[in-house]
Amino acid sequence: MERHSAVNFEKLCDICRVQSRLFDFLYSHKLLIDFTEKCEQCDSGTVRLVTDNHRPDNYIWRCDNRNCRDQHTIRKYSFFSGSKLSLEQILKIVYFWGHKYPQELVIHETKLSNHTVIDFYNFCREVCSVVIEKQSEQIGGPGKVVEIDESKFGRRKYNRGKRVEGVWVFGGIERDSNPPKCFFETVEDRSAATLIPIIKRWILPGTTISSDCWTAYSSLQEEGYIHATINHSIQFVSETGTHTNSTESCWNSLKKLLPKFGTQKHFYNSYFAEYCIRTKFLQSPSSDKFLDFVKLIPIVYHKPVPMLQSPAAATSALAAVADSASSASELLARAQQVNPSAASASAVVDIDASKSFEVGNFDIGFYLSEDR
Ligand SMILES: [Zn+2]
Repeated sequence: MERHSAVNFEKLCDICRVQSRLFDFLYSHKLLIDFTEKCEQCDSGTVRLVTDNHRPDNYIWRCDNRNCRDQHTIRKYSFFSGSKLSLEQILKIVYFWGHKYPQELVIHETKLSNHTVIDFYNFCREVCSVVIEKQSEQIGGPGKVVEIDESKFGRRKYNRGKRVEGVWVFGGIERDSNPPKCFFETVEDRSAATLIPIIKRWILPGTTISSDCWTAYSSLQEEGYIHATINHSIQFVSETGTHTNSTESCWNSLKKLLPKFGTQKHFYNSYFAEYCIRTKFLQSPSSDKFLDFVKLIPIVYHKPVPMLQSPAAATSALAAVADSASSASELLARAQQVNPSAASASAVVDIDASKSFEVGNFDIGFYLSEDR
C-alpha cells in the first residue's frame, strides 16, 4: 500500500497540473491549513475557502457573514507563507530537497535564481532543526555506550592565499542504536569547560563514554560516567574493546552532506539536523523521501496554539529556540530589557500578550516576519 502511494516526479507534476488535485494534496497533507471554523472576528459567520481570481493562488479564506467579510490568504501560517513563488514551484523544490537533488540541478530544472533555491533548501533544513529540537532526547544510560569525538569541519588545506579555519564540531552517538541516536554541536573550543556541560546535557548518567585520550574528558568519572579511552595513535581497538567506529562513520556521512565550500557557521547546526532527520525518518528502503519529509512540515508550520502553558515553560520554550530563531532571541532580549534580573517569565508573558502573533508562532521558523 505504501509503495502504491509513492510520489515520483511524474506523479508530482500530475498533481500540480490540476489545481483541485494540488489543493487536495496540500490540504490532506496539512501543508495548507484548513481554517473552516467560526469567525473569530465577528463570532457569527463561518470562515470558508472561496475562489478569488485577484489573488495569486486564486483562493482565499473568507468569513461568510456579509457584514464581516474578514479574510486572509490560504498560505497563512504555512510553509508557503511570504513567498512570491507559486505553490507548485515550492512543492517541487521540497521534492528536490527530499531526494537530495544538487542545487545546480534544481536551478536548471526550475529556472529559479540561485538565491531562491538556496533559500528554500535552507527552509527545508530549518524544518529539520525545529523537529529535532522538539524531539531531542538524552542518549545513553546504564549499560549503553556512547562514542564521543570532536572533528573540524570546513577547513581547507590548500586554499590559495587564504586559510579557512572551519569550526569544531563535537558529537556523540549511541553505539548499536538504529536509527542512530546522536547529537552534534558546533563548539568554540575543545576545553573541558565547553565540552563537559554539553556531555551532561546530552548523555544520561551511568553511560559508558568511549573517547580518545583528549584531556578535556579526564573528569568524566567524577561526573557520573564510566570512561573508556582509546588512543588513536597507538591502537585502533583498545584491549577493553573500546572503539570509535560509529562516530567515525557518522562524521564521514556528515562531511558528505555538508557543502563543499565553507558555509556560514550558524548553518552547521541545520546540516546536523538534516543528517539526523535523514537517518531517522528518510532512510528506510520503504521510505518515500518526499512524502515522509512532507509529514514533518506541519509539525513546524501549523495554526498557532494559544500559549496557555506556564510562564516557566514558555520561557524555556523560547530559550530553547533562541539560538536558532532570530525572532525568539530578540523577544528574549526584549524580555531582559524589561526585567534585567533574568529572562523573566512574566516579562516574556507580557510580551506574549502584545506580540502574540510572533510568540505564538515562535516555532514556525526564523523568517516568519521577513519577506522571503
Ligand atoms: Zn466574520
